[in-house]
Amino acid sequence: MDWVKEDLEYIWHPGSQMKDYEDLPPIVIERGEGLWLYDTEGRRYADVVSSWWCNLLGHCHPKINAAVKNQVDTLEHVIFANFTHKPAIELCRGLAKLVPPGLKKFFFTDNGSSAIEVALKMSFQYYLQTGRPQKRKFMALTGAYHGETLGALSVSGLSLNASVYQPLLLDIIRVQGPDCYRCPYGLTRESCRAECFEQAEAALALHGRETCGFIVEPLVQAAAGMRIYPPVYLKKLREACDAFDVHLIADEIAVGYGRTGKMFACDHAGISPDIMCLSKGLTGGYMPMALAVTTQKIYDAFYADYNEGKGFMHSHTYCGNPLACSAGVAVLETLAQDDILANARANAEYFHKLAIEMLEPESHVGEIRHIGLINAIELVADKRAKTPLNPEKRTGYRIYKEALKMGLILRPLGDVLYFNPPLNITRAEMDFVVQTTLRAMGKIWDD
Ligand SMILES: *Cc1c(COP(=O)(O)O)cnc(C)c1O
Repeated sequence: MDWVKEDLEYIWHPGSQMKDYEDLPPIVIERGEGLWLYDTEGRRYADVVSSWWCNLLGHCHPKINAAVKNQVDTLEHVIFANFTHKPAIELCRGLAKLVPPGLKKFFFTDNGSSAIEVALKMSFQYYLQTGRPQKRKFMALTGAYHGETLGALSVSGLSLNASVYQPLLLDIIRVQGPDCYRCPYGLTRESCRAECFEQAEAALALHGRETCGFIVEPLVQAAAGMRIYPPVYLKKLREACDAFDVHLIADEIAVGYGRTGKMFACDHAGISPDIMCLSKGLTGGYMPMALAVTTQKIYDAFYADYNEGKGFMHSHTYCGNPLACSAGVAVLETLAQDDILANARANAEYFHKLAIEMLEPESHVGEIRHIGLINAIELVADKRAKTPLNPEKRTGYRIYKEALKMGLILRPLGDVLYFNPPLNITRAEMDFVVQTTLRAMGKIWDD
């Protein structure tokens, strides 16, 4: 059977120009174990991008596998309106102890984008039924990524994903976000006071009255190239949102679950959002599921006699799927029992030091930024001037193709290469990842 030929006959792959597949056909993966994926030819690949950032504890983790196997023989799915089940309750009970203080109510959806839609609708409806219907706009940062459905895409600020669909999108208030590598104030993220927050402050002063929610990816604008900014920005945002009576919506879909070294990125700033969205690591990357978590205060604004019409009438068929919840429970148990976060924090220093030592001297490496185990390597034409490479040369993509031949999945964001591995990656595996990246880059510089 020619699996590749058949794939191309039937399948339209996500986020791809399918013509690229002429040159780089899809790799048929047969099985996974830990950091590694194995293809049908017996070749193996280090999945240092965690299969789009969702694989949290390695592929086919024994404890998660066991939990899902057990669940599939017990209950595979049940309608979640008026029905519930133990895995959903256990998951929320466990998460309630971990989320930032004040977040109490858990609304399930079946992917990250739909959790963003929930957050937007919930925020709007809250103000509608608490007497402030004029509050119906959203603020979001440049470089933001919040998903692909039309509401989520509206608040996303990445031109590549959004520009084609502009005529279909919501009218939102775009705020210039932090850009710490090329800081317009000439400051550094280690020592600044988030002076750039004045942009958000000004937008809130001007439009706060008509705004219901300000949505951000806390600390890391992931899809924009793992752009990292300091916690003080979030502290200021929390204060300003309070002052202008605007919900702070934290999209922790990519950065939650220990990716930044703490359970949630908001924890670095010691803040609680009004609504927090989770997905990706939530099920360890096993099954599509997401949550919008909110406060008692927001929940209470929807709590009324049925005929008042104040309920949150939003649902997805697979809300609270028991298989996904059972994976989610196993993830929380493993995080606690195996001391995953503490180990990841210790390893994060090692990983970053290694990346700096081996990769920073390279001629086109502009910055290697990191938080937790996330490391991003921004490639530039000129190190001192920080000028970007010509995007049409697709340098990142060409390095990705070289690295694949060497057994490493490095799928970059434009010309930003990054590592965002499972939290239990070993030091030997980190050595392989960094060495292979160096070799793959070398191939391209030589061309
Ligand atoms: C992946 C992601 C989303 C969208 O989640 P999907 O499950 O792909 O719809 C939203 N926000 C952030 C920050 C993400 O990384």
